[in-house]
Amino acid sequence: MDLKDKSLLETRAFIGGEWHEADKTFEVINPATGETITQVADCSTDQLSKAIDLAHAAQKDWAKKTGKERANILRKWFDLMVEHADDLAQILTAEMGKPLAEAKGEIMYGASFIEWFAEEAKRTYGDIIPQHQADKRIVVIQQPIGVVGSITPWNFPNAMIARKVGPALAVGCSVVARPAELTPLSALAMAVLAERAGVPKGVLNIVPSTDAAAAGEELCANSKIRKITFTGSTRVGRLLMKQCAEDIKKVSLELGGNAPFLVFDDADLDAAVEGAVAAKYRNAGQTCVCANRIYVQASVYDEFAEKLAEKVAELKTGNGFEDGVTIGPLINDAAVEKVQNHITDALDHGATVKLGGNRLEGTFFEPTVIVDVPHKALIAREETFGPVAGLIKFDTEEDVIDMANDSEFGLAGYFYTRDLGRVWRVAEAMETGIVGVNTGIISTEVAPFGGIKQSGLGREGSKYGADDFTEIKYICMGGI
Ligand code: ADP
Repeated sequence: MDLKDKSLLETRAFIGGEWHEADKTFEVINPATGETITQVADCSTDQLSKAIDLAHAAQKDWAKKTGKERANILRKWFDLMVEHADDLAQILTAEMGKPLAEAKGEIMYGASFIEWFAEEAKRTYGDIIPQHQADKRIVVIQQPIGVVGSITPWNFPNAMIARKVGPALAVGCSVVARPAELTPLSALAMAVLAERAGVPKGVLNIVPSTDAAAAGEELCANSKIRKITFTGSTRVGRLLMKQCAEDIKKVSLELGGNAPFLVFDDADLDAAVEGAVAAKYRNAGQTCVCANRIYVQASVYDEFAEKLAEKVAELKTGNGFEDGVTIGPLINDAAVEKVQNHITDALDHGATVKLGGNRLEGTFFEPTVIVDVPHKALIAREETFGPVAGLIKFDTEEDVIDMANDSEFGLAGYFYTRDLGRVWRVAEAMETGIVGVNTGIISTEVAPFGGIKQSGLGREGSKYGADDFTEIKYICMGGI
């Protein structure tokens, strides 16, 4: 790393607007080299509850500010993130592994949520409802929910936090965030800039720790937290939802996906290949909206497989800091083992490897294409989270919709066709929160991101994104 502003590499926790050491520290490792980048404060549950107390105390004044006052601070934070995007991207690549250009893209994507919700801060509208009795008037206002507990994963160490903190702060909530233990540095760097932007003490707290379960229990059990916002696995999301049941805490959950990607025989095949590469191999396949099951209509199956393999062969695997690298390492050994397991299972079910298929040094894995995958293979049922595309053959629109919807997940789905009627039919039939039609890239701050079924609850981004952080209050005025 060669940071212009070295103070962005912060290793202490940010609690109540002060930087705190902890009794213990933990290592942050660069997954491309296995080297230790630095040691970070490993906060105790006491420190976490202290952060919650301070967030609780700070929230009232934050909520009293006008939307415009909060907007100005958030806007400044956005400007600082953009100004320091190169440094933030380096920190992100070092701790997470994605290629530097992708890391920069994530920083700009994350920042866009701060910008968007800075703008939305002025638009938390209420409503006036025609009265049901002559002497009454009915007013509806939206109020901040209170203190928000945030738990985020390692695959987007900046953007997952920005997507939650942006709307929360915009509407007047305060936040206690526990970043993933594998990638705390991007979160702490964001806090350095939030402090500089003038976010008041206690409004944003970043509390890294290694004991995820203990932190989760405290965030869910502490009654000062009124909402948990989580991105991660369905398994942990389910657990957090159970834990929140005790005091009926609200939850927003962005959970696992298993995105189907459908290629119909009338599709522009080159565009479909390009979309599949983008949707499958971005972040080395480690995103929850990654295409996971690629269904191709029988008459174009071989041609699509050929073209896809050609394009995938052009991807360059390596350390994200090297020029031209498009595929970084997987996050750890467990991730590599899962990928290998999915490939072995597919081969056991009669599939064949068309390209790649092997582990490289460290946690690097060859970009892989497997063909003749049956719908019942593991790779079609579970999120792979690696650079492996499994191609499944289908005959009719009806069949493929059944297969696409045959999943407990429902985050994103993609399809390629040039038939307008089919565009509507399939888009409406797909049981997912997000549908990409003739595109493999769907993420933007202006649109609602989120899943149905076991992929989650709530939406992030867009004009809907702030709703998850407000309560609706109905005020009935009588005697008029
Ligand atoms: P992933 O496979 O993306 O790491 P996880 O759901 O395991 O998905 O992790 C997402 C985040 O949830 C990480 O920050 C992780 O530390 C945290 N986490 C894991 N287990 C728990 C738990 N029991 N309670 C709260 N947070 C948890």
